[in-house]
Formats: sequence, structure tokens, C-alpha cells
Amino acid sequence: MNKKAAQNRIAELVNELNFHSIKYYVEDSPQISDYDYDMLMRELKELEKAYPELILPQSPTQRVGDKPLSDFEPVHHEVPLKSLQDVFSYAELEEFDERVRKSTDNPEYVVELKIDGLSVALEYRKGVFYRGATRGNGVDGEDVTLNLKTIQSIPLNLTSPVDIIVRGEVFMPRASFDKLNLQREQSGEPLFANPRNAAAGSLRQLDSSVTAKRNLDIFIFNIQKFDVKSAAGVISSHSQSLDYLKSLGFKVSPFYNVFHSVSEAFAEIERFDKIRNTLGFDIDGAVVKVNDLALRDKLGETVKFPRWAAAYKYPPEQKATKLTDIVINVGRTGVLTPNAVLEPVSLSGTTVSKATLHNQNFIRDMGIMINDTVIVQKAGEIIPEVVRVDTDKRDGSEREFVMPDKCPVCGALVVTDESGIAVRCPNRMCEAQIFRKIVHFASKDAMDIEGLGPAIVQQLIDSLLLKDVADLYTLTQEQLTQLEGFAEVSAKNTVNAIEKSKSAGLDRVIFALGIRNIGQKAAKLLAKHFKSIDNLIAASADEIVEINDFGEISAKSVVDYFADDTNIELVEKLRRCGVAMEFSENIEDLRFEGKTFVLSGGLDSMTRSRAEEIIEAFGGKTSSSVSSKTSYLLLGDKPGSKLEKARKLGVEIIDEQQFLEMIK
Ligand code: NAD
Repeated sequence: MNKKAAQNRIAELVNELNFHSIKYYVEDSPQISDYDYDMLMRELKELEKAYPELILPQSPTQRVGDKPLSDFEPVHHEVPLKSLQDVFSYAELEEFDERVRKSTDNPEYVVELKIDGLSVALEYRKGVFYRGATRGNGVDGEDVTLNLKTIQSIPLNLTSPVDIIVRGEVFMPRASFDKLNLQREQSGEPLFANPRNAAAGSLRQLDSSVTAKRNLDIFIFNIQKFDVKSAAGVISSHSQSLDYLKSLGFKVSPFYNVFHSVSEAFAEIERFDKIRNTLGFDIDGAVVKVNDLALRDKLGETVKFPRWAAAYKYPPEQKATKLTDIVINVGRTGVLTPNAVLEPVSLSGTTVSKATLHNQNFIRDMGIMINDTVIVQKAGEIIPEVVRVDTDKRDGSEREFVMPDKCPVCGALVVTDESGIAVRCPNRMCEAQIFRKIVHFASKDAMDIEGLGPAIVQQLIDSLLLKDVADLYTLTQEQLTQLEGFAEVSAKNTVNAIEKSKSAGLDRVIFALGIRNIGQKAAKLLAKHFKSIDNLIAASADEIVEINDFGEISAKSVVDYFADDTNIELVEKLRRCGVAMEFSENIEDLRFEGKTFVLSGGLDSMTRSRAEEIIEAFGGKTSSSVSSKTSYLLLGDKPGSKLEKARKLGVEIIDEQQFLEMIK
């Protein structure tokens, strides 16, 4: 490749890899498989090696790891948490072995599972768990001690009062992952792509009670730093250090056998690959480590990784299976998406029975026919993809797939987009579209109506209680209690959640409307720029495009959406129901920080729980009893003994009117 072409390709790769890094590390929602990511990274490294003068400062090769998030206290790692050099074949492993052999004749290797989770450092002082931090960029991480304490396999006390820092991998067992995603599916929340991302998302929760529910686990695989006096002379190899960690009460990597040649080590790597589906947790490879600690010191480390270890990464598992049918899914905007029905096959630890086929062009380009044997693999997404057709397996029973000309749900004649790719059901009263629109509207990222998952939405549509999203705001507790599975309490909670969503904010409303091409980010930009739904409705495409980062297609989608009278009617209906359509700058207002409120009796203008929510949103606390720490007693309709106690203690007493003034 000539220099000009290399320069272009480097710029492309840097952009692409940085995009995927954000999806993976910050949003916990990867779009490509780790293997594909590693291959792009490898291509970039090779080009940068050939043309070092073309290395861009923003290249992902120029940093050690992901950046620490700012929500947690920073922790400086006394001993950096480095990454590992990758190898992808036996030949590359042999090259690693040759490099090691330059420093010794007969290296011993330990082979461990490469757990697919996230790295943490745990610090113990005098045998007591003191602090735990994420890897962050390897040098500075985040203090997640409270969250780590929810992991049962992390000992809070060791069997010996040593000062030690250890490194381990936090992961989510597959069973917990499946359960979590099932719950998220039922409540309409977005699914986690894989256990690794779910573990990362769970460990970085600001509320540790959420982490506690996620059933995380950990394997400890290294001593980072320890009080030499307490173990001097005992530990001279890595395998001994793991034995020692076990004796201290840590849960260490399940296999750490010692091998005397690279070929033996490779046999262990292959064994791991065969048993990986039976482990109950995900691995993405095996780690080969030099066993002798003195030799490790001699080999040393680069800025990024130790020279004494290598990560052997497995390619994503692929399986052949029969594609027995192609079914059509009608989406929120009416797009018909073909999905493959597969003969169930076990892939990367889960049974898969469907795969997305995107659109008719994808099916045509891949040459997929019904009854074909196809090769499937899991990319970043939870739904597997078809990578190719095994045409040798054809026996004449295959049939071509034809996109239907009628919507399979409502029977309306479909139309093809200007692009010629997407096929759409134009009937906005189509039940499939109504269902998906309402599920989207209520979802966590949109109006965040807790308790209104897909199953309940379906019931409400079936009972003719919902025809559009605005009907949600007319639902009563009585109507909900009549539905199957609704008790009084859950009905009440759902009605409250619907009520609360009225003040979700303009950006959420815009996103919740489900305008084509308008995601969360675009909705936020629109809300911030136009300040009210009326201004947005009146905006021209030219005015919208003036917003930085806004493309013409998205702008046109907004204008088209509001050019449709039915959509304007829907907005009006939502407004009449009390849904706030104005933008309010979401600056964190902690006016009640450090203040504790006690409520006595009921209020006229709102429920007690709403008042408590408002106090907490402003950074205050609520308590059920008056004490010297109480800042205000909010007096409702039943003063009672709390009033007396407040008077005695000199606590400031406020009535509802004063409270309303305070929260204005
Ligand atoms: P890495 O995952 O390749 O390897 C290093 C990590 O392995 C260590 O940090 C450690 O946490 C872990 N590990 C697990 N078991 C271990 C054991 N027994 N001994 C030692 N270490 C063990 O490197 P990384 O820098 O943490 O992450 C980069 C990787 O993240 C990439 O190679 C890629 O696969 C993935 N990634 C994927 C995407 C995507 O879009 N899919 C984006 C960015 C990064």
C-alpha cells in the first residue's frame, strides 16, 4: 500500500476503532465482535509499524486502556494494571516462546482461562478489604469498593493479616446474565449485548443495591503487590502465588496447570476451547504466563503489557444449522424485517434459534434460501448473524424467499422506501406498529414508565384500552386491576409511574414519539435548541440543519413527522393529558443538600411519595421520625406527636404552602 493510501486507511481505522471503543467501554453496548475489533486493531498496528510517521495522536494504539468515568472517586494504581499482548495462532505463540527463550532455556508456562469480564485491583490492609478499583486506563481507575463488597466471593477478611493488592476479573455468570436480560426484556429495557458488558454496567452502578442484585462473581489471577515479609521465600513462581492466594481465602482462576513446552501449553489452550461452553461463564481466550517470577522480572514490561505473558484469543464460535423459515417482524415505523428461524443450536454458551437477516438485499447478497444450511456466529449483538450459506449441503428442497407485498399483521399493501431497501407497512393503525410505538414510548430511555413492559402493553391493546400512546394517560387503577397479573399495589405503582412520566422532559418526549432517524442524542439536541415542542413543530428543515451535528436526513424526518396532521393531533392529545412539552435545563439542583425532612400527615397538592421524591431529587433526605438531625418538619393534615417533638427540639416547622415555595 502506498503512503497516501496508508494515510487514508489509518484515518479510517482510527475513527472506526474509536467509535467502537466508546460503544464498548462507555456505553457497554458493542456493535462488532471482539474478534472483529482485534482484527481492525491489528491492521492499524501493522500500518503504523510500516509508517510510524503517520501515527495519529488520537490513535487507539496510543493509550493503555479505557478512560476512567468521572462518577466515581479516582484511585491511582500503585502497580499499573497492564493489558496483554495478543496472539491469534500457534505460530504467533511460538514467536512469543522464542522471545522468552532469549532469556532462558526451558521456560515453564502456566495456562489460565482468559475470563471475559473486567479487571479490578483489590487492596487489603492487615488482612481487611480496604479498597477496590476498576482498571480505568491502567494507571488511574475508579473507586468501586462499595459495589465490590456486594460480590460474595470477595473476602472481606483474609485468613492472614497481610497487606496485599491483588488483581482479578469481575464477571457475570451466564445464568445471571440470561436472567437479567429476561427481566430487562419483560420490562422493555434495552438488553445487554453480552455478559462482559453487563458486568461492566453492573460494577459501575452508582447505587450499589443495583450491583448487589446482579450476581457478579470474580476470579483472582495475580498478586500486584504484597508485604514481602509475610511471604518471603515461599513464593517464587506464579503457580505458588495462586496457591497462596487460595490459602488467603480468594477465589482464584479454576485452572492453572504448569507446562514445560509451548506445544503442551497449546494443547491446554485447545482443551479450554473445547470445554468453554460448559464453564458457566464466558472466556475469550487463554492466557499463557511465564511461571518463574525471577524470569518475569528479567523479561520486564512495555508501557502497555508484560513481556512474560500472552493472550491467545479464540475466534468467535461458528456453527452450522438449518434455516427452516424466514418470518417477518413489523417494527415501530412499519419497516418489515426478515428474521431467520433456525434449528436450535448451541453457540457460545447459549441456545440460538433465530438470526437477523436485516432486509431483502442482505438475503439476496448472501444468497440465502429457506431450508439452506447456514453458518451463524454471535457478533457484539445478542442476536446472532448469518455469515454464509453452505451451498454444498443443498438437496433441492430449498426455496427462494420473497418479501411479502402485504403487511403480515394488518394486510395493508406495503411500500418500498426511496432507498429501495426498506419495505414498510404504511398503515399507522397496524397493531404491530401501535404495540411497538407504545413499548418504545414507555421504555427506560424514553418516558421511563416503570412496570409497563411489552407483555402488559399487549394486554392493554387486547383489552382495547390503548389505541395510541396518549391513551396511557387516561388509564385508571381500576382498569389495570382488572387485567391478569395486576394486583392493587402494582396497578397503583403503574398509574403513579405514568403520572410521573408527564414531567420526563422535552428531550424524552421527542425521542419517545419515535420519529424516524431521531435517537436520544438527536432528541436532546432538538430539545435544547428549540426549547418547546411548538417551536420544533414550526421549524423548517433548514433551521434544524443549523444545529451542529444534525444531518439533512434527520432534519427532513422531523419536518415530515410534524407535517402529518395525525402526529400533530397526538402531540396535542399528550399536551391535554398534562405531558410537559417545554425544555428545562437539567442542571443538577441540590438546594436541599444536607437537609433532612420529616413529613407528617397527607398533603393536598401531591402524594407524600411525590413530595419525598422531590426532596430527594434536590439532594435532600427524608426520615420517618423527628430527631435533632431533622432540618424541617413538613406539616400535613395530621400533625400528631411529630409536631410536639419538633417543637421540643426546635426543628423548623413548615406547611405545605411554604414547601411549595421552597421547591419552585
Ligand atoms: P484484553 O481483553 O485483550 O486482555 C487483557 C485483559 O484480560 C486484562 O485486563 C484482564 O482483565 C483480562 N484477563 C482475564 N483473565 C485473565 C487472566 N487469567 N490473566 C490475566 N488477565 C486476564 O485487553 P484489554 O485492553 O482489557 O481490552 C481490549 C479488548 O477489548 C480488545 O482486544 C477487544 O477484544 C475488546 N474491545 C472490543 C470492542 C468491540 O467493539 N467489540 C471495543 C473495544 C475493545
